[in-house]
Amino acid sequence: MLILMENHATPDQVKEVLSLLEAAGIRCQVNETPEALSIVAPNASKALKPDRIEPMDGVRRVVPITSPYKLASADAVAGRTVVDVRSVKIGGSALALVGGPCGVESREQLFTVARYVAEAGVKLLRAGAYKPRTSPYAFQGLGLEGLRLLEEVRAEFDLGIVTEATEVETFDAVEQSADMVQIGARNMQNFALLRRAGRCGKPVLLKRGPSATLEEWLYAAEYVLGEGNRNLVLCERGIRTWSDHARNTLDVSVVPAAKALTHLPVMVDPSHATGRRDLVIPCALAGVAVGADGLLVETHCHPEKALSDGPQALLPSDFIRLVERAEAVHRVLQAPSLTGLWM
Ligand code: PEP
Ligand code: MN
Repeated sequence: MLILMENHATPDQVKEVLSLLEAAGIRCQVNETPEALSIVAPNASKALKPDRIEPMDGVRRVVPITSPYKLASADAVAGRTVVDVRSVKIGGSALALVGGPCGVESREQLFTVARYVAEAGVKLLRAGAYKPRTSPYAFQGLGLEGLRLLEEVRAEFDLGIVTEATEVETFDAVEQSADMVQIGARNMQNFALLRRAGRCGKPVLLKRGPSATLEEWLYAAEYVLGEGNRNLVLCERGIRTWSDHARNTLDVSVVPAAKALTHLPVMVDPSHATGRRDLVIPCALAGVAVGADGLLVETHCHPEKALSDGPQALLPSDFIRLVERAEAVHRVLQAPSLTGLWM
């Protein structure tokens, strides 16, 4: 249920409601915005009737959250969530861009890519120190050494670092080094990892599983939110279909669908969605056109030598072109006559 408090409700009145919920064994979250103060209490109506809470001082109204995704639901908070990653706002009015190589391979590789990513005006660099690979014989990432290189590159170029956590065991190290922790597609239903991400002090980027429905993806989000981490961003990265001209199929319609059901920002990763360099820019623009809050794009100076995902990595010049075009499409959508048309 959603407990809407009066705007002038005192801290003691809020505490009183929270104590009642906690005594009934209900974990809840307080949401405070300049416009509204509310408490989201998932599944509370099983233990407490609304008429027990509604008469309490400071309570304006109790409304049921009918959506099965209680915390991710658009009904749970007033307005949309904006996630701040080292001062880059994801979900705000600007398009959030994240670029970088698939994996950290060497100091030279990482620094060369970081230089042109920063020069293109992109403030978030993404590269995996831990790589979840389909084959156990493929490059698995540099691990701790990769994290050290990411810390160095952040200091050198003033970039925020997005990097993936693949296991609970190494999560602490990733959390310490990252400005945002990615949970990859293959781990979308690794519930222990999702819970750990929910207890993480850094924002989380949750990729959609290659065969996950929107419902399954949002339940995964619920695991993260349920542990108290509200800084969560969804990322569509293509799903498996019968289509075999590309690595995956970019599900553009899931972007507005996810935004309609939730208050969370949604990004698009056209690199894993296509697996083909020539399709990355058009699909990135399609993502922006359907209302994505940002893009996550792989780029490499020498894709032919990349240790993972070379065929989908944009060359530096293409990466710069992508940034210009994506921002141009985004500007068109910001035109007053078009605002609100998508989301
Ligand atoms: C990646 O981001 O490099 C990656 C492995 O992505 P995904 O989890 O979407 O396959
Ligand atoms: Mn990759």
